[in-house]
Amino acid sequence: MNDVRPLGEIASYHAHIYFDGQAERQHAEWLRLRIGERFRVRLGNWHDRKVGPHDQAMYQVSFAKEIFGSFVPWLMLNHKGLSILIHPNTSNPRRDHLVDPVWIGRPLDVHGDTLPDDDEAEEALEVNTEPTLPV
Ligand code: ZN
Repeated sequence: MNDVRPLGEIASYHAHIYFDGQAERQHAEWLRLRIGERFRVRLGNWHDRKVGPHDQAMYQVSFAKEIFGSFVPWLMLNHKGLSILIHPNTSNPRRDHLVDPVWIGRPLDVHGDTLPDDDEAEEALEVNTEPTLPV
């Protein structure tokens, strides 16, 4: 029986950065600016209302496997109390979000009933930042 899942299942990662209310939105703005100054990632649209399986307003950051080791620890140090969901992108979005993620800050509900459990694994989206500062 071979039930070990290989790292090759992971095509990319998302970080979902949540906020609730004006103070947290300002923290989220602060964080977004500083991410863009430091990391080659895809900063997604602001969602000021709940979308998809997410329980609060948030924006998404799509990032490549290669920067996990610097980006995720940096978020641990700089999340300013915000809840951040980090999940792998494999061929099973429901499992990625519900079973296999890591949380920075306080975990929130994720409503995964509408997520597919079989889909194309998403590669990291095109980078839209031009970092100039060291991590
Ligand atoms: Zn996601």
